[in-house]
Amino acid sequence: MNLVFASNNAHKLDEVRAIMPAHVRILSLHDIGFEQEIEENGTTLEENSAIKAEAVYQWINRQSSIRQSIDGVFADDTGLEIDALHGEPGVYTARWYSRDGKRIAVNGEREIFAANRAKALRELADKADRGAQFRTVITLIKLSAISSVRPASEIQVSGVVRGRIATEEYGVGGFGYDPIFIPEGYDKTFGELPASIKNGISHRARALQELVKLL
Ligand code: IMP
Repeated sequence: MNLVFASNNAHKLDEVRAIMPAHVRILSLHDIGFEQEIEENGTTLEENSAIKAEAVYQWINRQSSIRQSIDGVFADDTGLEIDALHGEPGVYTARWYSRDGKRIAVNGEREIFAANRAKALRELADKADRGAQFRTVITLIKLSAISSVRPASEIQVSGVVRGRIATEEYGVGGFGYDPIFIPEGYDKTFGELPASIKNGISHRARALQELVKLL
């Protein structure tokens, strides 16, 4: 089975490939030659997840050379939801650092991740409640192998991992907010825990487990 993962995020792609069973071949946007920017202008994780999956689905439907060999497309939209901040940054997780109007010069992905983590630590500096969760919403669109005219089915699943925000950064593994997120049942951050542990319990792993049941 060939599934397209509608993401350009190399970290997510690595995790998805490590988590999905061997019979599911995961193709990246690069693999299929999709080079457009997708504007994530939804106001919820559910909307942005659907926007990404639908954009890539529409594009695949126009590519007669590859359409027949692809069984479906799915997208992952993930948010960090902090209890003391009423679920923020949520849908704004990716560029949270830039939302308070301050101009911070960031150069590349690593600096964006670091600026986001610094903001989380600042926002929680005076808060006793450090509870938080990661939530992933996956949208799957199955393709009909017969005709692009036949309606495709669109399904959403989600996965959550509860935990807390550490008081400082620990570890260099993973990506994004991993060095400050301690999953429930552990005393280390996702940045310190081996990838095999993260990929067994994470928001993404749980959403993908639900996805596999639908294939
Ligand atoms: P999006 O789903 O591509 O919009 O990702 C939103 C942002 O959430 C990313 O840019 C990362 O900062 C963060 N993020 C997503 N997944 C993870 C994860 O597994 N660990 C840590 N941060 C993550």
